[in-house]
Order: sequence, then structure tokens, then C-alpha cells
Amino acid sequence: MKVLVIGGMHGNETLGLNVVKLFNDNKVINVDTLLANEQAIEADCRFVGQDLNRSFPGNINSKDYEPKRAAQILKLTKKYDLVLDFHNTFCPNNDCSFIGENANQELSDISWVLGLDKIIVADYDCINKAASNCLSIEVSMSSPLNNAELWYDRILTLSRAESFTIRSDVKKFRFVYRMTLKDKDRLELDKRDLKAFQPMDVKIAKAMGLSSPAYPIFIGDSFTPYNYGGVLNEL
Ligand SMILES: [Zn+2]
Repeated sequence: MKVLVIGGMHGNETLGLNVVKLFNDNKVINVDTLLANEQAIEADCRFVGQDLNRSFPGNINSKDYEPKRAAQILKLTKKYDLVLDFHNTFCPNNDCSFIGENANQELSDISWVLGLDKIIVADYDCINKAASNCLSIEVSMSSPLNNAELWYDRILTLSRAESFTIRSDVKKFRFVYRMTLKDKDRLELDKRDLKAFQPMDVKIAKAMGLSSPAYPIFIGDSFTPYNYGGVLNEL
């Protein structure tokens, strides 16, 4: 299958940049690469004007960098069977993948084959919502999966496959809430021992208007200091 590997959707997340570099230095038939937010990569920051991964489907006529870039990237994704978009988080044990609501069925199997058994359906204006062939890969900085060579090998194997006959056993979630800094102060979330993918206290979830079990992710991630994390429900 024809694969596009995206690094630097967020300019300061290094795994994708390293995976892209490996494929650029060791080219493989059927695998192309893209550095997404080139200005943010240059400046070693998440974004320059606005979060690129909240800017889809974008606007090709925009004068602003990220909305225009999102439209360019989305157009490119249509040439591929599969798009893999890499991200990092400082929150430990947070390895997972993201898809959009209308994602191709086989993305679940691909996530499983790649070693990610938790999939989150995201409905904010990320690339996954706009591109049904895009699987975003989220890897904790402290994870053994935060290793570009490992992903090079796995993507190489994947690019040689035509289809999958495996039966995946992924756990699916929906992204339902962003914990704000206000929530953090109001509910003293930093004292609640929240852990990624471990159900939070029912009362705390209720105080944020969420049904249980509610699973926190991206807790206190210094990549996104302007909020305190995300919350999932099971699908
Ligand atoms: Zn990211």
C-alpha cells in the first residue's frame, strides 16, 4: 500500500521528525514523507499562528500559515492508501492512535498491526476528521515506542502488505472533553492521581459533566500547557 508518513504536525514533537528523517535517508518504495508545520519545526514550537491539527480542513486561500497549510496537506493525503501522522506527549502510558468519525474500517486493523491497541475517535478539527485514511499515532516520550527505528521497520512491513486478514482487538474510545486549567484549580485535578486510560473517580467526572467510566489522557502535558488534559468515554 502507498503510505504517507507525516512528522511535525506539531513542530516540537520529535518522534515524527525522526521517522521522516529515517525514511528520507533510507528511501522505500511506496513510502513518502511530509514535514507538516515547517515554520513551527524551524522555530521548535507547537505552532506559529494556530494549532495546525485544529485547522482542518483548512483554507487554501487563507493568508494565515496554518489554515493554508492544512488545506495543502489534506489535498496531498488523497493520493495515499494510508497516512500515518506522528505525535508525542509527556503524559506517561498514553500510547494510542486517533481516527476520525468516518475513518476507513481498516485503520483499526492497521493500528493493531502497528502495536497500538487503543483507538480514539476525535471530532475536533484534526486531520483525522478530514482525512478518512489518516491514523494519528500518539506516543509517550517515556515509552519504548518512542523510537524512530522501530517505526521505520513497522511501516516498511506495512507498506509491503496489500491487505490484512488479522482480526484486531482494539479498544475504542471517543474524545469527549478537554480539562481546562480552571477545572484543574476548581477540582484540584493535580492532586487526584489521574493516570492515562485509568478510569477517574465518578464524582470528579460528574463535576465536569461527564459520564463514567471517564478516562483521562494527556494529563498535565507540557506540550499543551494551556489546558490540563483530555477525557475519553468508551465506544
Ligand atoms: Zn501532537
